[in-house]
Amino acid sequence: MLVLNKKLDMQSSRRPLEGRAAIVTGSTSGIGLGIAKALAEAGSAVMLNGFGDRDDIEMQRQSLAEAHDVDVAYSDADMSQADAIRSMAEQATRRFGQVDIVVNNAGIQHVSPVEAFPPEKWDQILAINLSSAFHLVRATFEGMKTRKFGRVVNISSAHGLIASPFKAAYVAAKHGIVGFTKVVALEGAEAGVTSNAICPGYVWTPLVEKQIDDQAKSHKIPREAVIRDVLLKNQPNKRFAAVEEIGALAVFLCSEGGTSITGTAIPVDGGWTAH
Ligand code: NAD
Repeated sequence: MLVLNKKLDMQSSRRPLEGRAAIVTGSTSGIGLGIAKALAEAGSAVMLNGFGDRDDIEMQRQSLAEAHDVDVAYSDADMSQADAIRSMAEQATRRFGQVDIVVNNAGIQHVSPVEAFPPEKWDQILAINLSSAFHLVRATFEGMKTRKFGRVVNISSAHGLIASPFKAAYVAAKHGIVGFTKVVALEGAEAGVTSNAICPGYVWTPLVEKQIDDQAKSHKIPREAVIRDVLLKNQPNKRFAAVEEIGALAVFLCSEGGTSITGTAIPVDGGWTAH
């Protein structure tokens, strides 16, 4: 069906996602939490998800809700379990009335040569980093299409575009999610549902901070050398992205300004994949 352009409400307010409702998987720390905060600040209700200390999560939930005057819920659904993912989508729909935005962010890593890669780790990484996105989109897509608005944002990686050794499952899952992103974009296009992948290089998260200390100790080199010569070796701008940068991009993709951006895999990697 050909749709003539209607005038879009381009970021007229400072809360471009007012009235929207989002699920962000793996949002109890790192990039997911950064995205959840950015969506809440933009006016969207948010369902947090992930593991961690219950009291810390509850504090985070309350402070987000109070700071931005939005409804914030929490689900402890395990992203390796299809049933739990479906229940989380139902819980969000009951609580918010609808789900407009899905951010598939939960992810884990395991590093090992292929011949020694534990098969159970392969299965777990594929389940959490790839299949969870399928299950969550499957559970929310019809509602988005019916309401003629939806946003799927998949957190892939620079490793969704290029490979590194010893990360077989992670690289396979992250490439896979770029493919899935494109299929969802094609199926949602006429119904106003966009689907995009964000492909970060190194992002400053507590996990990365810990890696720096660990590697400095094990290689007996200063922290600055670990950052520049080990972690950011391939990242030409020699800086970590901040979670706020990923959050800002997610908000833009979910706003009216992102209406025609679909089926893409957007690097946020300081030029890494330009090599
Ligand atoms: P993180 O470890 O800080 O956060 C991961 C989140 O996922 C946590 O909230 C954790 O509780 C949750 N999680 C893990 N397993 C889960 C499961 N089975 N069910 C539900 N939740 C689960 O990691 P991060 O660095 O913020 O990474 C987030 C995403 O960004 C991942 O998909 C990762 O691959 C991707 N990414 C990270 C970087 C980086 O430099 N940090 C770079 C590129 C891509």
